[in-house]
Amino acid sequence: MRIDVALRDARSRLASSPSASLDAELLLCHVLKQTRTWLFTWSDRELDADQLVAFEALLARRQTGEPVAHLTGEREFFGRPFRVTADTLIPRPDTETLIDVALTLPLPKSATVVDLGTGTGAIGITLALEQPDWQVTLVDYSDAALQVAQYNAGQLGAPVRCVAGSWLTPCDGPFDLIVSNPPYIDAADHHLDEGDVRFEPRSALVAENHGLADLSDIVRQASGKLVDGGWLMLEHGFEQSEAVRTLLAEAGFDQVRTAQDLGGNDRVTLGRFASASS
Ligand code: GLN
Repeated sequence: MRIDVALRDARSRLASSPSASLDAELLLCHVLKQTRTWLFTWSDRELDADQLVAFEALLARRQTGEPVAHLTGEREFFGRPFRVTADTLIPRPDTETLIDVALTLPLPKSATVVDLGTGTGAIGITLALEQPDWQVTLVDYSDAALQVAQYNAGQLGAPVRCVAGSWLTPCDGPFDLIVSNPPYIDAADHHLDEGDVRFEPRSALVAENHGLADLSDIVRQASGKLVDGGWLMLEHGFEQSEAVRTLLAEAGFDQVRTAQDLGGNDRVTLGRFASASS
């Protein structure tokens, strides 16, 4: 069967996915170990029997809802491939907002940075690669996730330090920048029963107190582990920005503001820690 025909068939089989075309292309790229550009350039090439069987098997699994990132074992974030497993969240394009904003902050050349609940390492590793002088630490409570982050750092050549533990408890600090995409979804949120989220670790998604428990723990811990004038940036749910701004203001942060994601939703809130005397 030709590549273009196989892709057309696959698209109709995956019609219930909101990203059927992209899903089909990424799965076929994975089977052929080629890029999407290659697929379109050579769309009249024939797939051999083994390739077709392998593609069919992936399509069948995708039809049951398994995330493409789990089937291919990776997801692109900020233009780089990250290994993804069932132990980590799948990196989201919305989280790239956090990177964009972090790169605009007034930070020292060799800033000390920590990414809390790093999962695949997408945030911290991206920052380390975009700002090679920054000294980046990745923290995760899950050893399995930390192993994935360590693998990604090695593959991508990011000189980061990986530390196991809960939020800032394993770190001495002080840091110039603390970033995190913690769990922030309410346990009753219906999104948890839809799409890829069903296959991601609950511990990386759900937090008590309407999704605010971990966000508020991090804010509380951060003020003791930031340099004077250091920054805290948090990803959160689109309806949580006011609550997070209040948490930051009450903990003594100034210049508190919220940035929107690609869909125009409030997604990242940040503030600068200034000790009472400054
Ligand atoms: N943004 C993700 C979602 O809505 C959740 C990520 C998180 O809880 N940190 O699925």
